Amino acid sequence: MKAELMDFDKALELFEPVLGFEVHVELNTKTKMFCGCANEFGSGANTNTCPTCLGLPGGLPQVNKKAIESSIRLGLALGCEIAEHSRFARKNYFYPDTAKNFQTSQYDDPICHDGAITIELESGRLVTVEIERAHMEDDAGKLTHMGGATGRIQGADYSLVDYNRGGVPLVEIVTQMIEGAEHDAPEIGKTYVAAIREIVKALGVSNARMEEGNVRCDANVSLRPRGSNVLGTRTETKNVNSLRSVERAVRYEIQRQAAVLSAGGTITQETRHWHEDTGITSAGRPKSDADDYRYFPEPDLLPMAPSREWVEELRLTLPEPPAARRKRLQAAWGFVNLEFQDVVNSDLLDAVEATVAAGASAQAARKWWTGEIARLANVAVVPADSLVAPAQLAALIELVEAGTLTDRLARQVLEGVIAGEGAPAEVVAGRGLAVVSDDGALITAIDTALLGQPDVLAKIRDGKVQAAGAVIGAVMKAMRGQADAARVRELVLERAATIE
Ligand SMILES: [Zn+2]
Repeated sequence: MKAELMDFDKALELFEPVLGFEVHVELNTKTKMFCGCANEFGSGANTNTCPTCLGLPGGLPQVNKKAIESSIRLGLALGCEIAEHSRFARKNYFYPDTAKNFQTSQYDDPICHDGAITIELESGRLVTVEIERAHMEDDAGKLTHMGGATGRIQGADYSLVDYNRGGVPLVEIVTQMIEGAEHDAPEIGKTYVAAIREIVKALGVSNARMEEGNVRCDANVSLRPRGSNVLGTRTETKNVNSLRSVERAVRYEIQRQAAVLSAGGTITQETRHWHEDTGITSAGRPKSDADDYRYFPEPDLLPMAPSREWVEELRLTLPEPPAARRKRLQAAWGFVNLEFQDVVNSDLLDAVEATVAAGASAQAARKWWTGEIARLANVAVVPADSLVAPAQLAALIELVEAGTLTDRLARQVLEGVIAGEGAPAEVVAGRGLAVVSDDGALITAIDTALLGQPDVLAKIRDGKVQAAGAVIGAVMKAMRGQADAARVRELVLERAATIE
């Protein structure tokens, strides 16, 4: 049911939004967090399981070193301190997707704490988001509720459980309270999650595909009446799985809570579900600060004490921060904001960079990637950068710039490259697509066209140069498009003056 909503601006007049985000990042280690099972998306149900991740008696966990390494690198990239001593804790609760009856998480000794990242909004406003902690934990399995209309447990006939995801390593990144967001609150949510996604991608520690749940965001929103010092009651909208949804969910909660509070109602501290299709949140389960998970130190795992030398070694492996890289590339390529944003939003930064590195001009690389290749990728429903290798595109662009291909011919060559007919030069040879640069062949076609249209010839001779268009068109058609239109035009004017 759609709740009563207050106009966004009106809500901001009456209340100050206070935000907080918990982002879960699934690490792309080969194996799970505490056992040797494959960490793989899309395997047959319950095939990647063992006694340890199923919580069977006698199963003993062992920490995945790569997961610790990834967590430390992520923490360093978030400006966090890396704890000298850190340990795992059991978070006890029963739910069918958690075979162990507890989640192995971290409680009072997280591996990373006290960081911050600065994000830039479209207006240019810089917002520093402080990170309280980034801790390691394992993921739960996945429940699928069958038979109901909504895919939720309510109304379902039965539920299936797949424990393949159970035990996959996660890092949960928890922000401090974000105050002063004001009208930018929804955009801050989106931009913050985008920044986290960009960082984990640059680090290579996660596949970072939100649609596969590699990066999931819980958004906490509360409203404080203007002039009050008391924080409002917050809701926690769970598992928001796209950047746009984070923005919409934050905006929706602000508008919904403002309507409830203005009508004299109270906000229930609870989790809420985000509904992508209808764009609303609905009540989940009540959640109090006193939720007692009976945390206690995990007795089967040793505490971690990463040496300072190792932490410093890992710091040296950090990539250039994504925000700095974007600034550097935009300056180097000379793109205006709109051009650059187009590349970033299409997730083609790496592709354009690699194409430029292979020798193409930045503008040509941008034009091809965000134009024709993006169009073909859209039709094929695949990522654009999976269609053609940057080096192939650079070779194609070189053929255009050398005058061997017109843009139109180049698009045909590109199709050939994508169809697996070989490198651009091979497709040009194989399909016979090169521009006819032999003036003799062009002149024969031009003379035929001019003599075939004596009225046009007369007009050109009268100085009505625009009449040449008809002849140029006829010649291009005769050459099956494989001629350079500018050269044809030059020759048409020359021949019109001299032809008998
Ligand atoms: Zn296992």
